[in-house]
Amino acid sequence: MHTTVIISGCASLEDSLAQLCASAGLNVLITPHIYHLPEQDPIWSELASLQGQIVLVSPLYPRPAEWLFRKHWNGEHLTALNISDYATAEECHAAILELLSEANSLPILFPVPYSLFPIGCSPLSLPDRWYPIIDRSRCKNCRNCLQFCLFGVYEMDGELVTVCKPDSCKPGCPACSRICPEGALMFPLCEQSAAIAGAPGVMMSPDAAARRMFYARTKQTCPACGSSEDVRAQDTDGAKICQECGRPVLSNIGNLAGSELRDELDQLIDDLDTLTRKD
Ligand code: SF4
Ligand code: SF4
Repeated sequence: MHTTVIISGCASLEDSLAQLCASAGLNVLITPHIYHLPEQDPIWSELASLQGQIVLVSPLYPRPAEWLFRKHWNGEHLTALNISDYATAEECHAAILELLSEANSLPILFPVPYSLFPIGCSPLSLPDRWYPIIDRSRCKNCRNCLQFCLFGVYEMDGELVTVCKPDSCKPGCPACSRICPEGALMFPLCEQSAAIAGAPGVMMSPDAAARRMFYARTKQTCPACGSSEDVRAQDTDGAKICQECGRPVLSNIGNLAGSELRDELDQLIDDLDTLTRKD
């Protein structure tokens, strides 16, 4: 199978890794950091037209790197490697060759290595960006993220929730990843949480306080207790509250004290106000 190694945003290792891969007969592309590459950049069109197997080497964890790439590329065989997992270009090169031999994919020999940027020249340096990446294997298109975000980052594309205005996202705000019921939203540059960044072996779980914030803001009907009241207008002191939405319930669904709920909501609202003021 035709194989292309894409080396994206790998800084000091990229030239030597590209040379090693090219001398092993692999088709090599060096690109700017794909997370910071604007959607309308023509490099994406070139990448989208690639056939065969792709090995994507970047500074991102594999899961967000794969789903970011798949937003632009419809092929089947894609493996992402995190350059941070390798101390040297030789180590990364060995991992690529092992991967290809496991997949029985022999390199195709190219007389001249092909690259979007000539090997030996540094790719463009792009301004840093911050936006969510959707893991399509987990997303159920429930629209909670779209209803929650105040900045119009999400829109519907047919039946699919998509990140349509990534640059409207507030740098440092990973709030929607905390409310996603499926843990499908990743912010690969998030340093506070490995789960939000999409690190291997950890999956984001919905955060209970953030879920209550979601209902407080959107006034959505709660599927757990059926209420659609404004949670902030309710007197929750001393009441039993629904643990999904934070509204008072007559049955014994929840057991969080109303005053605790009010503290959590106040804190979340304050945090969001701070981010909004930074705009
Ligand atoms: S909240 Fe999560 S599961 Fe729901 S549409 Fe958004 S990403 Fe998909
Ligand atoms: S992180 Fe905040 S601003 Fe960005 S998409 Fe999510 S809710 Fe909207």
